[in-house]
Amino acid sequence: MRWSRYFIPTLREDPADAEVVSHKLLLRAGLIRQLAAGIYSFLPLGQRVAQKVMQILREEMNAIGGQELFLPALHPAEIWQESGRWSAIGDEMFRLKDRKGTDMCLGMTHEEIIASIARNDIRSYKQLPQVWYQMQMKFRDEARPKSGLIRVRSFIMKDAYSLDVDRAGLDKSFLDQRQAYKNIFTRCGLQFLIVEASSGSMGGTESNEFIAASPAGEDLIVSCANCGYAANLEKATSRPEEIADEPGPDAPEEFPTPGVRTIDDLIKFPGGADANRQIKSLVFFATIDGESRPVLVLLRGDHQLHETKLSDNLRATAVRPAHPEEIRDLLGASAGSLGGVGAKQRTPSLRIVADSALKNRRNMTTGANKDDHHFRGVDIARDISVDEWFDLRTVESGERCPRCETGTLEVFKGMEIGHIFKLGTKYSESMGATVLTQDGKEVPIVMGSYGIGVERIISAAVEQQHDDDGIIWPKSLAPFDVVVTITNMKQDELRQAGEKLYEELQRAGLDVLLDDREERAGVKFKDADLIGIPYRVTIGKKVADGMVELFDRRAKKSEDVRIGEVVATMAALSTDT
Ligand SMILES: [Zn+2]
Repeated sequence: MRWSRYFIPTLREDPADAEVVSHKLLLRAGLIRQLAAGIYSFLPLGQRVAQKVMQILREEMNAIGGQELFLPALHPAEIWQESGRWSAIGDEMFRLKDRKGTDMCLGMTHEEIIASIARNDIRSYKQLPQVWYQMQMKFRDEARPKSGLIRVRSFIMKDAYSLDVDRAGLDKSFLDQRQAYKNIFTRCGLQFLIVEASSGSMGGTESNEFIAASPAGEDLIVSCANCGYAANLEKATSRPEEIADEPGPDAPEEFPTPGVRTIDDLIKFPGGADANRQIKSLVFFATIDGESRPVLVLLRGDHQLHETKLSDNLRATAVRPAHPEEIRDLLGASAGSLGGVGAKQRTPSLRIVADSALKNRRNMTTGANKDDHHFRGVDIARDISVDEWFDLRTVESGERCPRCETGTLEVFKGMEIGHIFKLGTKYSESMGATVLTQDGKEVPIVMGSYGIGVERIISAAVEQQHDDDGIIWPKSLAPFDVVVTITNMKQDELRQAGEKLYEELQRAGLDVLLDDREERAGVKFKDADLIGIPYRVTIGKKVADGMVELFDRRAKKSEDVRIGEVVATMAALSTDT
């Protein structure tokens, strides 16, 4: 490819609206352009990188027996109604009507389509297992698209689905995918870790997220350096510290607390209590089986609720904090004076759930469901009718690891680059995708679902590998293996040497960009650094002595190489990872 004719609109300055590094650099290096919020075009250079990513995805999916297919992006609502997700998924789904008024949507994922193919054409266990995958545009109506290609409304996804006759089959398919994903991200040159995650609206029993550590990431990840425990914050837990409570009175004692509204107020209040001796009481409404139900959530005073944990544990499709008038209706007081003591007696329909760190605590302080009054001496087991104990609190850095004895947890930012799910029979049961087993029994197909965002891989690669001069592509994703830079197009000797090398390198099977623009050498070097091609061969004055300069973008080092040895040197460098 000749740079003089190739479309690489590089920018000198950082675009004003770009905040994260990958967004800035992908725009500046001329890989992408924005069409609308969260909608991007891949320009030729960006498309080359995307193609390299997709080739790696294809090879690794094929290696575990994946069969590539291609499913439509436009779906009838009917099929999403069958699985129940038409109503379970909120505004993030793009919905539209066709000319006949029929509800349609743009696919966010394809479990329903896969289950519908399976129910029509798979009858017997003999046809299983199947592993199907595709690369397809997906659509998500993000409330706040941002960070370039990290949070977008339309994107390319590699999604794969496994169909098995039983759980053991699913376990194997899941492990195959997990290994393939490790290979993919390793080949893409990414630093990543595998974490336990919430399955959210996908459903199922188990899920693993692949996370690239990056300050641009929107996920919070918890890990223990001692034992390797790693989980998304929405799933992570910690070992609660053991607190020895003094024995309290025989029954809770009510006391006036004028003006006390918060945990902090009560710490400072004379006769109050430290945060870890208080019970925090929060009222939520959870949508469960299409019905909105009140829930009283109890946590230790110094702990924060994680709403995803609440919604996952309640198996709710949505949770929201109750409004002040709803709270008064349920408990007879305002937020700030609420508590679990007597709450069930007052409102039997109220479900009380408590965080496990409160278990066996006594002599605690909490609101009395009477404005400006609290109870002290509360023994949770004795005084509060807790319906269920869950892990609901948000883990913080420095807490103790739940898995090993000595490790402490660290919380950091990361970017989700892949997510794999054991779906089980959620879709096959609701949609009637069954097979006959060897014994002639009809059973639902056991499914798994496995996704990777192509744009996320590209963003993560740039986030993790760049410097002040621009992108440093891993060799596997680089749009070209090498750029041949002719420093002065006016000198015939240089031009001819460059053209010749360009031909030879191409013949050796390398992706070569020839910088044959009528520009100063400094401009050419700057552009080459910005777009991040791993090697640059500089054709300059030393050509007279039969030498060129080979520049390594990552190491930022150059060495003189004999012209006759460039092809062999480059061939060796580009295959070595
Ligand atoms: Zn640990």
